[in-house]
Amino acid sequence: MTDIETMDREALAALQLLRFKRAVTTALKTPFYKKRLQGVGIRSAEDLKTLEDIRKIPYTTKEDLREAYPYGLLAVDKDDVVRMHASSGTTGTPTVIYQTQHDLDRWTDLTARSLVAAGCGRSDVFQNMMTYGLFTGGLGLHYGAEKLGMLVIPASSGNTKRQFQLMKDFGTTVVHATPSYMLHMYNRIEEMGYSLNDFKLKKALVGAEPHSEEIRQKIEKLYTIDVYNSYGLSEMNGPSVAFECTEKKGMHLWEDSYYLEIVDKHSLEPVPDGETGELVLSILIRTATPILRYRTRDLTSIIPGKCACGRTSRRINRIVGRTDDMLIINGVNVFPSQIEEIIMKMTEVGTNYRIIVKKEGVLDKLIVQTEVGPSIFSDDARDINALKNRIAENLRASITINPAIELHEPGMLPVQQGKAIRVVDERRKPV
Ligand code: ADP
Ligand code: ZN
Repeated sequence: MTDIETMDREALAALQLLRFKRAVTTALKTPFYKKRLQGVGIRSAEDLKTLEDIRKIPYTTKEDLREAYPYGLLAVDKDDVVRMHASSGTTGTPTVIYQTQHDLDRWTDLTARSLVAAGCGRSDVFQNMMTYGLFTGGLGLHYGAEKLGMLVIPASSGNTKRQFQLMKDFGTTVVHATPSYMLHMYNRIEEMGYSLNDFKLKKALVGAEPHSEEIRQKIEKLYTIDVYNSYGLSEMNGPSVAFECTEKKGMHLWEDSYYLEIVDKHSLEPVPDGETGELVLSILIRTATPILRYRTRDLTSIIPGKCACGRTSRRINRIVGRTDDMLIINGVNVFPSQIEEIIMKMTEVGTNYRIIVKKEGVLDKLIVQTEVGPSIFSDDARDINALKNRIAENLRASITINPAIELHEPGMLPVQQGKAIRVVDERRKPV
């Protein structure tokens, strides 16, 4: 545990103000924030005297990031950027985050710190089953784990049989995966010719999608391991924004690096500790892409009181929902508007469609139902299948999820009076 993690709250507040001012200086170097901040009379960091003054800064939304695409939020020379990550926007335009080497080093410190909080150490073998790529899940914990001296197996997601093989052959002690993948894997162990005795697994770090305390306990019992919750979002770098310590009583949000606010989802005014609201975050440790007062759309609450582990950063509860319509399907974020955009571009497809998300076993399943012209049904079955494949392929290229496609004749999908209900989420609501 580093000193910064046990700092008293007063010293932490002073550090936050200092770092927030630095973040404002950085932000003023971007076209986006220059305009935004000057609009409310903030011309330099000196216009912020106390932490309360932060509330003068307008919120930043995903829409803002989309509009600033690709360089409107870049605060450094392009030559100084060494990495970028991107995540899905509400429509085709993604949001992009840049990092300098300095930014990556700060993020690596945080991920190493998070792994230590969850009880990991240099003798652990860490199998990272999150997707490596533009998503931050894979690369996010990778460098922190190396820094800590763990043996890192960059397995990435999927290919369950190979995951088991790696776990067995290299004696994996810690895995990083979505909670639904942990459950999925469990169901495949025997059928793939393995048994729990083949593995040395001690811990799973799970995140990227909402899950309940019951799901955590279920995974713990099935595998006889400890499971820790990991929260992050690409706008705030990715994993290691908040992480559970071995007390397992909520996730420490690393307040020396992120400024934490929880606001009422309607009034956007702060709510008292313990009350659920929308999480608003500012990143204090990034120089390439500053983001101030970002509306995460995630609903959570602050856990009042101190944690027995001695860390002084406050803890947040598990995420209980979102304030927008974003779906999280097996850990991948999808906005219904992205699906609509793709299928409405296809001239063969009619205007009515529905998006169904349900559980198939322990994994999520996306079904897209669309109406098509009547002529297609009199055609060869091969034509129908070809159209289904084309729709599925177009969707997969955009949202990276393989949907099941159902075609319906015009007028066969339910029509709502008033606002159409186009998304039916049949999964159990997370508690
Ligand atoms: P990631 O690759 O970590 O999913 P994204 O930026 O793609 O990062 O998605 C971030 C969103 O994923 C969060 O805003 C939140 O809705 C969801 N999320 C991430 N971690 C968790 C978690 N531990 N519990 C619930 N939701 C989570
Ligand atoms: Zn703790």
